[in-house]
Amino acid sequence: MAKRSIVRIDEELCTGCGECVTPCAEGAIEIVDGKARVVREDLCDGAGFCIGVCPEGALSIEVREAPDFDPAAAEERAAGRVEGERLLRQVCYICGADEMAAPLFPVRHRGESKWACARCLPRLIHG
Ligand code: SF4
Repeated sequence: MAKRSIVRIDEELCTGCGECVTPCAEGAIEIVDGKARVVREDLCDGAGFCIGVCPEGALSIEVREAPDFDPAAAEERAAGRVEGERLLRQVCYICGADEMAAPLFPVRHRGESKWACARCLPRLIHG
């Protein structure tokens, strides 16, 4: 236990849409009773990949006392997610490819959070 960066979920703002589950490669976030929850704090590395995809602004990073990040446990859980059922399917909003076809990147545009794949991203960047 030490002070470190870790995700904070505002339950009032969270609608339980699940958009933040897949970006968390470590599998620290799950939807429980209709709300996003950090199911195990030792799986959250505080990197904040989940923050940009939340359409409600319910996610933030705070510094507080938390169990140390456990990279081995996170790796094991992430491997299980890909093979198992907890991976929520996300698709590129331009071409519909999922992450098995091409890497997906979170993008923000005009107040919306979306996913764009590596194949479509150059078009977004260069017009
Ligand atoms: S993306 Fe935001 S609103 Fe949706 S489940 Fe996650 S925290 Fe809740």
